[in-house]
Amino acid sequence: KQMRHHRLTLLMQLVPYGNKQKLLISRDITSYERIDAMRRDFIANVSHELRTPLTVISGYLEMLSAESEIDLEMQRHALTAMTEQAARMQHLVEDLLTLSRLENTLNKLNESSVDIASILRELRTEAESLSGGRHTIHLGIDSEDQILGSREELRSAFGNLVSNAIRYTPEGGEINIHWEVKDGKGMFYVRDTGMGIEPEHIPRLTERFYRVDNSRSRQTGGTGLGLAIVKHILNRHQARLKINSEVGKGSEFCIQFPEKRLISKQ
Ligand code: ADP
Repeated sequence: KQMRHHRLTLLMQLVPYGNKQKLLISRDITSYERIDAMRRDFIANVSHELRTPLTVISGYLEMLSAESEIDLEMQRHALTAMTEQAARMQHLVEDLLTLSRLENTLNKLNESSVDIASILRELRTEAESLSGGRHTIHLGIDSEDQILGSREELRSAFGNLVSNAIRYTPEGGEINIHWEVKDGKGMFYVRDTGMGIEPEHIPRLTERFYRVDNSRSRQTGGTGLGLAIVKHILNRHQARLKINSEVGKGSEFCIQFPEKRLISKQ
């Protein structure tokens, strides 16, 4: 039996207990409470992410102002560390602003016919510079079909997947970027020969601040918001994200666009 009282749902159930039965009363967290808990979690995460770089910066500033003679090497070290941490905060704030813009339902999609092939060519150049020659990058364009959507948003979603592939693939690995139309669907793939992801993490990757490997994410400048941003952009385009991965072998991230978003150029 289910009893509803305001925002609280009580579940009552008779369960076997030896040769008798006992009454089990449990409380279901309603969606309102769940959303409130998620909001609190989010604020706690943001605060934590900002506090860490701020602690480093204020630590060095304190040291620089307290000591009268600091050798040049130490000064340089302090400046480099502070610059890195400031960049990290900047990156985080930019991603937060992007997320809040995407979450605002009043913010309509700025649609046009988007040339996916041209985005991919731009991304290859960007990927090569990000990789710094440590990976082999392949580009495959099997369709000239375009997508009805926002160029800026699609470029950002694809770019996020490509930069992840590079960041989570060790030196010497391969990255494949591919665009094709199959069974009436537009398919964008990024495949890497990187570290891979264990299956239990896959359904949670698009949650804000969810990371499998905290230290690798931070070392490579990750904010933990990239895939959350990708998910929002895809929702706005009625597109889906499919992830296949094998630990130690690599991952495949595939974006599928529905037929109604395709603009055929053949
Ligand atoms: P981050 O800034 O931490 O990279 P993302 O939201 O982009 O945040 O990704 C979430 C997590 O998913 C990452 O921390 C990483 O653990 C995992 N991940 C994403 N892409 C890959 C990939 N290509 N290979 C392995 N792990 C990945």
